[in-house]
Amino acid sequence: MIGPISFTDADIDKSVKDKDIGAYILSKGNNVANYVGRSDSSLKQRLKQHLQNGIYTQFWFETVTSALDAYYLECQWYHKYSPKDNENHPAIPPGSAWKCPVAGCPYST
Ligand SMILES: [Zn+2]
Repeated sequence: MIGPISFTDADIDKSVKDKDIGAYILSKGNNVANYVGRSDSSLKQRLKQHLQNGIYTQFWFETVTSALDAYYLECQWYHKYSPKDNENHPAIPPGSAWKCPVAGCPYST
């Protein structure tokens, strides 16, 4: 995982490559994980969408090489940090049958 990085347009551009996919954590400060997410198409674009809300000040990210790995990573962080701004468990793409990798999770079976 890379971070914490200040959550600004310039620092996103500096840290994340255009074609990177993966998972990310957003924080409102004090290194608290307030939101986790992923992008299977463009991590950079997704982060910039969040930037428009103006409520987060730091982020972390990790790149992966497949959409499934991005989902797994998001699930692991979701369970590890219980981020308050995530209302729902990480979603699977329509038509997929992916299972959460975290044992005991209702979405793991
Ligand atoms: Zn789960």
